[in-house]
Amino acid sequence: MDLSPKKLFSLILIVCAGFNIKAQDTSKKLYDIIDKISADSIEQDIRKLAGFGTRNTFSDTVSDTRGIGAARRWIKSDFEKISSDCGNCLEVFYQKDFVTPEDGERIPKEAWVVNVVAIQKGTKYPNRYVIMSGDIDSRASNTMDFTTDAPGANDNASGMAGTMEAARVLSQYEFESSIIYVGLSGEEQGLFGGQGLAEYAKKNNWEIIGVLNNDMIGNIEGVDGVIDNRSFRIFSEPVPPTETERERSMRRYYGGEVDGISRQLARYIHKNTETYMPEMNPMMIYRLDRFGRGGHHRPFNDLGFAGVRIMEAHENYNRQHQDIRTEDGIEYGDVVEGVNFDYAKKLTAVNAINLASLAWAPPSPKNVEIGGIVEPSTKLRWEPVNGDIAGYKIYWRDTTAPQWQHSRFVGDVTEFTLEGIVIDNYLFGVVAVGKNRHESLVSFPSGTFR
Ligand SMILES: [Zn+2]
Repeated sequence: MDLSPKKLFSLILIVCAGFNIKAQDTSKKLYDIIDKISADSIEQDIRKLAGFGTRNTFSDTVSDTRGIGAARRWIKSDFEKISSDCGNCLEVFYQKDFVTPEDGERIPKEAWVVNVVAIQKGTKYPNRYVIMSGDIDSRASNTMDFTTDAPGANDNASGMAGTMEAARVLSQYEFESSIIYVGLSGEEQGLFGGQGLAEYAKKNNWEIIGVLNNDMIGNIEGVDGVIDNRSFRIFSEPVPPTETERERSMRRYYGGEVDGISRQLARYIHKNTETYMPEMNPMMIYRLDRFGRGGHHRPFNDLGFAGVRIMEAHENYNRQHQDIRTEDGIEYGDVVEGVNFDYAKKLTAVNAINLASLAWAPPSPKNVEIGGIVEPSTKLRWEPVNGDIAGYKIYWRDTTAPQWQHSRFVGDVTEFTLEGIVIDNYLFGVVAVGKNRHESLVSFPSGTFR
């Protein structure tokens, strides 16, 4: 082919413009998603959920207006409506397990613990799933009391409504990996719904990218009077509880105490939030959950899946797990008036952009190995990722830094040497970068070489 300098120049211009448009499109899509999340729609759904009186897991399942049965049927029909608006892009079903009083101390009677699942199948990696969860169930002061009003407007109609809103917005797009929107039950009685779905996932060989569990995403006024509508917490455990004894002892020599899969997911969410929603203040909390308390990401962590809890920064204990009443001038109860819908919208948007960017990204590179002992440079190698990828990026940071500080895109190669970077002084990880510029979660090295 004969190309004059002028022709060559215009060809280069066309190629560059193409890349440019692509890069802008990608980030613009995430901004569009943020803009589409509606506080009004979240408010309507929270009011509807709180209106079922109680959603205690053991409450009425026959009534159409009161109890968890009515609530889950309404959630299912809403997912089905979202699906019919997107050409049946969601597969909606109940996933359920039977519990009896022998299964736990907080089970007053036999019942089905029923989750409502909506799956948006990925076009390229249908068996890879990123999950957003909220809870259907609520509780009164006494967990065993399944008749007293327990509107659970913030705990956890807020997380449930956010999950439904994310489904409404993201179902307008197509993704390479699958997204699951789920309402879990039995949270207050011992995390039974999460356990049921995590086991279901394991049994069906789902490859879970990560679980974004939302539990209380609507309260901005702390019990101490602090009002803050920008901060929120991302809880993540340091390393999976399923790691082997060998992996544990390897860590003494090679590091990784704060680099488990859930922590990488938390860092990913933190980074995307800072990039796309700089007005927010995401707080990385280096623990599984609040001190001595639990949430529905834990059963997934228990089985070795990555999962985090996304939650408001300032809790109001007068509005959690309390019968509605006034005592000594203090109003108790988890009522709709305690929820800030604009804040719930912001945290829903945090979820939505991370679900989208994970579902648009290629899988993480597997079997990342690291070398460079008594050498002036650090070497990394990994298995190639199947798919349409632009290449790989290496991240590194000081051993005391919470977030990745440095990165280098190294192209479509499967090994690379970072010249002059001493292995002892940093922690390293590798991501795959799609042609659409979306990045996978960081893979922390799981082996070494010389
Ligand atoms: Zn609760």
